[in-house]
Amino acid sequence: MTEPALDYPGDLLGFAGDLTPSERAQLARLRTFLDASVRPVLVERWEGGESLADFRRPLADLHLLDDPELVGAGTGVRPLYRGFVTLELCRLDLAMSITYGGQVGMFRTLIHAGGSPEQIAAWDPGILDFTFTGCFALNEPDHGSDIAGGMTTTARRTADGWVIDGAKRWVGNATISDNLVVVAREADGDRVLAFVVPADAAGVRRSVIEHKAAARMVHNADIALEGVLVPEDRRLPRIESFRDINRAFRSLRADIAWSSAGMQLGAYAAASEYAQRRQQFGRPIAGFQLIQEKLVRIVANIAQTLALAVRTTTHPIADDVTPSLIKLIAADRLRESVALARETMGGNGILLDHDAIRFFADAEAMYTFEGTREVNTLIVGRALTGHSAFTR
Ligand SMILES: Cc1cc2nc3c(=O)[nH]c(=O)nc-3n(C[C@H](O)[C@H](O)[C@H](O)COP(=O)(O)OP(=O)(O)OC[C@H]3O[C@@H](n4cnc5c(N)ncnc54)[C@H](O)[C@@H]3O)c2cc1C
Repeated sequence: MTEPALDYPGDLLGFAGDLTPSERAQLARLRTFLDASVRPVLVERWEGGESLADFRRPLADLHLLDDPELVGAGTGVRPLYRGFVTLELCRLDLAMSITYGGQVGMFRTLIHAGGSPEQIAAWDPGILDFTFTGCFALNEPDHGSDIAGGMTTTARRTADGWVIDGAKRWVGNATISDNLVVVAREADGDRVLAFVVPADAAGVRRSVIEHKAAARMVHNADIALEGVLVPEDRRLPRIESFRDINRAFRSLRADIAWSSAGMQLGAYAAASEYAQRRQQFGRPIAGFQLIQEKLVRIVANIAQTLALAVRTTTHPIADDVTPSLIKLIAADRLRESVALARETMGGNGILLDHDAIRFFADAEAMYTFEGTREVNTLIVGRALTGHSAFTR
């Protein structure tokens, strides 16, 4: 089968030109798979709020991140290529990206950054082929933005290991994972610890949050933890504070920009195709100046977001403030672009059949997770002024 030409309309600075022929070929295979297998079910699954978990295995079989041709000697795939994988997934759908990337991105990164060499060696092959799945449980029902100071979930040391009590909320992929990385405050100390809790351990209860109107194909869950016994060898020994968690996720910070760029590209593809096809006043609406202005603004937003993604991928972030700035910019550009794409389509813009409204709704999920606009603003504001405007 002929693979599709990889078009990136917002890549005005030519970043995709830095991909190798093998990387481009792999990305084209990914796009072919997504278009042929996942795209046809999106409307039905979105309406039903059904998971895309069944596509994880076929995606693993594409060997996106462990193809021997793309993996350098012990170094893994190139970060730029990895970014474009996220972009391609989000160009199709945010939920597909979270369903796959929550495992090979977030969960794998946590294990690599926090785990012992023995834990990494034991778990990594299963993480890549989805036989050892996991998610990240930090937020709590009563503590979101103030989780660092307010966390109530505790881990108490006993002769047999640790006993965890508490509750977590909003955990993505929790009901399709074998393991939950639970963050808990040490009951008899000051440390913040992370445990790889088997999802079927006694005392764990997971329930899907219903009636969600964004990222509907991701199942976010409430998790109750009551006297859950976890052995010491399931604790990630290199996580002992929030600083360690931030360090663990630093390499993933550019991902939010890649995701935003991908969603904007998906929304743009839908809007520009629609504008060429739809006729009013006897001509394609793509010929109207005000429609062109919307399309140009989306492409300009993509160009900015992509530049941010590439720069922060090729020059890794070393501080805790830049990620907040990235999130602010990526989420703002996304929100504007998906609204413009929807607007381009008139009434049809609110029909799932035309894609834009799916990106529009999902943008609201991304706007909130990984730090809200307000909290990120306070973090950047504190760094700029030297004054903390957090209330405590
Ligand atoms: C789709 C989705 C997926 C998620 N996935 C995960 C996951 O996998 N794992 C996980 O652990 N968590 C996850 N989360 C949780 C997410 O990180 C939190 O929703 C987020 O941190 C905000 O917390 P909150 O929803 O409790 O809002 P709140 O903290 O209650 O905030 C409500 C509003 O008040 C504002 N606010 C709070 N404090 C201040 C202040 N000092 N000054 C000004 N304004 C303030 C906030 O910005 C927000 O606008 C997810 C959330 C969503 C929506």
